[in-house]
Amino acid sequence: MSKTTDIRDLDVLQITEALKAMGEPSFRAKQIHQWLWQKGARSFDEMTNLSKPLREKLAEAFTFHVAKIHTAQHSKDGTIKVAFELHDGNKIEGVLIPTSSRTTACVSSQVGCSLDCKFCATGYLKRMRNLSAAEIFDQVWMINELAEEHHGKRLDNIVYMGMGEPLLNYVNVLRSVQLITSPEGLGMSPQRLTISTAGIAKMIQKLADDGIKTNLALSLHSANNEKRSAIMPINDSNNLEMLAEALNYWYNKTGIRPTLEYTVIEGVNDGPEEEKELVIFAKKFPSKINLIEYNPISLADYQPTDRLDAFAAALEKQKLIVHVRRSRGKDIDAACGQLANQLA
Ligand code: SF4
Repeated sequence: MSKTTDIRDLDVLQITEALKAMGEPSFRAKQIHQWLWQKGARSFDEMTNLSKPLREKLAEAFTFHVAKIHTAQHSKDGTIKVAFELHDGNKIEGVLIPTSSRTTACVSSQVGCSLDCKFCATGYLKRMRNLSAAEIFDQVWMINELAEEHHGKRLDNIVYMGMGEPLLNYVNVLRSVQLITSPEGLGMSPQRLTISTAGIAKMIQKLADDGIKTNLALSLHSANNEKRSAIMPINDSNNLEMLAEALNYWYNKTGIRPTLEYTVIEGVNDGPEEEKELVIFAKKFPSKINLIEYNPISLADYQPTDRLDAFAAALEKQKLIVHVRRSRGKDIDAACGQLANQLA
């Protein structure tokens, strides 16, 4: 191991090997692992059941990069948008969304995004790099602290819906899921986690093959290839037929109904024709639908629809499972699609 290796990039076996090479007993690896992922240690100095000489040796051998809160902005509805500063100066955003029924963290998976969805502020930022599993974990850890401090509640829900496309940072996202869900980590149920994708068909199938037990959401936003490609260029290479096949595969392997996220935008996807297209797509596999109120961004000329309730009623009439999601944190640009490092 060299000083360029970050201790949090190693699993417990790799830490055991590294300690062995230092002449240290292997049980120390488990202690270090607990400090990292159960106690949220942010430096070797906090690991008080390790001797000082060992802590110094570790600090000489490894880097220990942590994300820090740069700014936190509070909405009047209780939502808190957090800008995190990473060790290399890059910034990302995460959001705490408290409601009466649950306390949710929305976390980022990349710095910026490469997918250029036209309605999304993050899409207008260049993708700089993937986040490490530890950087995703840090967002969860610190947003949970904010939830306890400001709302007296722990997180019970985590959605990978912040900046970036999680399935284009597959390995690190999956490791973060493991750190959050394993008993050696935060021990949350995978059913409390949702991975959201703009639609990378082969990676959806891989998720199913890898035995992932989290929820899965597809950012659909249009069930017509031509219209979807106009607002989500990823649809050119991952069209609706490929996505339906992948979601069918997912459902057959996991038994988990995927959620279709559909942001309803005036004049773009909110008419009776689009209702019909969505019904046809949503019936190709067992699904549920989240209809999301659109939040305008200054970079694009889209507006929210006044047909949200009518749209929901039309889908319900077709016996589809529909939830309407009103925006939270709008006054601080923390709502869906609004994360654009404006705090940074
Ligand atoms: S909606 Fe998601 S995938 Fe699309 S640009 Fe925004 S962050 Fe990227």
